[in-house]
Formats: sequence, C-alpha cells, structure tokens
Amino acid sequence: RAYDWAAFRSEIDGIRVYDDPKQVELRSRDYFWYSPILSEDIGHFVGDLVVIPTDEEQVRRVAAAAARLRIPITIRGGGTGNYGQCVPLEGGIILDMTKIDRVLSIEPGRVRVQAGARIARLDDAVRETGQELLMYPSTRRIATIGGFFTGGSGGIGSLRHGMLRDDGNIYSVKVMTLEPEPKIIELHGHDIQKVQHAYGTNGIVMELEIGLTEKTDWIHTAALFDSYDATLRFCLKALEEKLDCYLLTTVDRRFSRFYTKFGDLFPADRDAVFAMIAPEEQERFAELAASFGGRVSFSMTQDELHTNGLQPAYECGWNHTTLQALKAEEGWTYLQVAYPRPFDPETVMRQMERYGDDQYMHHEMARLEGEVQIFGLPLVRYKDRDDTYRVIRELEELDGCDIYDPHAFTIEDGGMKQIDTMQIEFKKLADPFGLLNPGKTRGWTADMAAKD
Ligand code: FAD
Repeated sequence: RAYDWAAFRSEIDGIRVYDDPKQVELRSRDYFWYSPILSEDIGHFVGDLVVIPTDEEQVRRVAAAAARLRIPITIRGGGTGNYGQCVPLEGGIILDMTKIDRVLSIEPGRVRVQAGARIARLDDAVRETGQELLMYPSTRRIATIGGFFTGGSGGIGSLRHGMLRDDGNIYSVKVMTLEPEPKIIELHGHDIQKVQHAYGTNGIVMELEIGLTEKTDWIHTAALFDSYDATLRFCLKALEEKLDCYLLTTVDRRFSRFYTKFGDLFPADRDAVFAMIAPEEQERFAELAASFGGRVSFSMTQDELHTNGLQPAYECGWNHTTLQALKAEEGWTYLQVAYPRPFDPETVMRQMERYGDDQYMHHEMARLEGEVQIFGLPLVRYKDRDDTYRVIRELEELDGCDIYDPHAFTIEDGGMKQIDTMQIEFKKLADPFGLLNPGKTRGWTADMAAKD
C-alpha cells in the first residue's frame, strides 16, 4: 500500500529513522523461522521505515503522525518473538522501542521501568538492590520487558511465581493510544490483561510496574539419569519436596549432540535435568537425584560457568533448547504442549513410543494459576503442514494436551483459541483506526475501525 511518507517524515523531523532496505528487512523479522509454516506464510512481509524514538514525547509524535496519516505501526522490542509477532503484515512503520529503556524507580517488591529496557539490564539493576525479577524468558539478554509482557508467556522463575499472566506478577502498565492526539491510559491489577499478550495490537506500552522478590544467587546445575522417565519423576519429587528452584528443565539424551560445549557433562547416553537451585539446596538436590539413580554432573555459579565457557542453565531450557538444535541441524521444528493436570509421566512415555526419532523430548516445570503445570517443547521432525497438524490433533485427542500452536501468527490461533473481547474492546479505545500490528488478531474486523 502507498502511504504518505513525505508528510510522515516531515511530522517526525528530528527523530531517528532507518530506511536502508537491509536494515528495514532485518527489523521486519523475528524468530518465526523456527516454523517452516510461518516462514512460508509470513516470511516475505517487510515494513517501509524503522523509527527509533528516544523518549515518550518522540513516541507521541510518531503515534500522532501515524494515526493522522493512517500508517500501520508494528512495535518492536528485542525482536525475539517466535510467532512472527514483529512481522509487519501490511508494511508501514516499525517502531523500535529499545531506546525507551530507563529503569525509573526500584522499591522493595517492585520496579517501574520503561518498556524498551532489556531484561538482563533490568534484572542486573534490581539485583544491585538485593532483589530479582520474578521471572524472565530464556532470551533474558536480548528481550525487552515490554516485549515479554506483550509477546511472551513466562519462563525462568515460572516454577516459583507462575506464568506472567497470573495475578500479582505485574502491578500496572502505562499505555499510549494511537490517535491524532495520543492519550496515556494506566491499567492496574487485573485490568492489565487488556494488553497482556496482545502482540502490541492495542496500544503502545510505555512503562510497567512489576513485582520483585528477594534475590538468590542461583546455582546452575545439571543431573544425569538412566532414563527420561527418571528425569520427570525426579522433577515431580523435587516439586513435591518444595526444593527451592528457579528453573527445572528435562532434556532427552538425543539433544546432547546439540549441547557440544558441555561434552561429558551431558553425554549421549544420559538424560539430563538442567536446574537453577538455591545454594543451600545443593545437597538435597544431589541426594534426591541419587534416589532416582542419577548423579550431579556440574554445579556452578554463573561466573564459574562463564569461566568454563558454558552457557547459563537458563539458556539450556525453554526455547533455547530448541534453538540449540535448530542452529545445528536442518529439518526440525517444535511444538508447545501443555499437559493435563495432574501430570502423569506415562503420557510422555507413550508419546516417546509413538513418535520415536521424530520427536526429541524436553519439558519445563512451571506453575499456572497456583498449580504445578508441565509444558513440553518437543523438537519435531518437520515433514509438511498436514503432518504437523496431524501430530497436533493426536496430542490433543490421544493425550488430552493443549497445544499453543507455534505455527500460527494470530493471537487466537496461537494460544488463546478464542477472541478476547476485553482486548478487542480496549483496542477500540487505544487503536480506533486498527493500525497497530494489523492482521495479528482475528477479533478485529475492518468494520470496527473508526471512520473519519
Ligand atoms: P518482541 O519480539 O520485540 O515483541 C513481541 C511482541 O510484543 C510483538 O508483537 C511486539 O509488537 C510487541 N511489543 C514489543 N514491545 C512493545 C511495547 N512496548 N508495546 C506494545 N507492544 C510491544 N518467551 C517466553 O515467554 N519464555 C521463554 O522462556 C522464551 N524463550 C525463548 C527462547 C528463544 C531462543 C527465543 C528465540 C524466544 C523465546 N521466547 C520466550 C519468546 C521471546 O523471546 C519472549 O517472549 C521475549 O520476551 C519477547 O521480547 P522481545 O523484546 O524480543 O519482544
């Protein structure tokens, strides 16, 4: 589509832009390439212009100009989303938020931060005050806090504190509307759900106030077992015994060829549990592993890991497990599987039998709505679209699992399965012309857009 770029540029004069096609193309992508289906469906879309504001006033000018000229905006944080959330399906402006990144205030139990702050820098800043984030994605180093809130779901720490959308993890957010005269709306408590995981379709998140907890100097560790079944049963026991963990990940032995840096610490004949545990839990962790026939392979601080050229345990779990494999070999993709509660390891044993070498197993222990929730992120040999959806149906029908489809680019087809009317109602207020990340929510139809 043709947009009035001359008018737009003159309205945002003085604000940094990139229009070099290579730069624009790079910033029109995220990690959708995990999915051959998404690569085929949306991999070719690119934006027209990248705009990089450095403060709220500049964002306001961009939002006002885009609304007046009816130019779509796709907001971008670290660009690490897996579902093409940052791909501009109708071209337009890519709004890079990474320079809106100040940590505004840190108090006991909470931090106020601008949305474009990288999570690692934020967590490092709060750790200076003896506190830590309740959770972060394994992309801690690159992802922004605003992108996590609008595009992510949970991760390291979710075992202790639940998923991001569980009450009490985020206190408030400040959102800018996309109108000729943009407004700021503050959402508190449960109301934040109006924009959470909305893929930036219903407002520009400017600031967040999020929960903190007392910091722990986590020990990064792994234990090795004779069977995958033992890794799962060990984890369930660790949860039952309330072992203090920030991360508990099971990785099947066939992944070891992708974890080359670990060498004998993750050999090809053992299944592994990667974990982050409280320092005082090391003995209990080792004893519990031994009671399931396992042994501790390493136990180090993050600095010690670094000195030994190894990545932190949080980069051995969640979607980093998949990344290690995809970087090493072609022909794979993955799925996101929520197991029925209470979790039964037999379900996984059946799946291993059924899929053989077509699926490598990887599970994450977490909490959702206060209960233990096990998620699977199996590595899946990619055949074609039909086969992918056949496997999804089997997991749903034979095993009672819920699939958060990582091959879909709309919010509804991905995880939510249904239109979130609360989010759509908020979009009518915050993005009345339907310009924010168009095409990513099936709940918005063209006739909802405000007329001139
Ligand atoms: P982006 O990808 O830049 O954006 C995500 C979405 O948020 C987009 O729709 C964007 O438009 C929107 N957005 C960004 N900033 C704003 C804003 N200020 N206002 C409004 N909308 C905005 N996810 C997890 O939840 N847990 C994990 O453990 C995890 N592990 C991962 C591991 C790997 C290797 C990879 C590649 C991905 C992983 N992800 C995970 C997905 C992703 O990294 C996270 O969700 C991350 O938090 C996204 O942050 P980002 O800044 O990169 O967001």
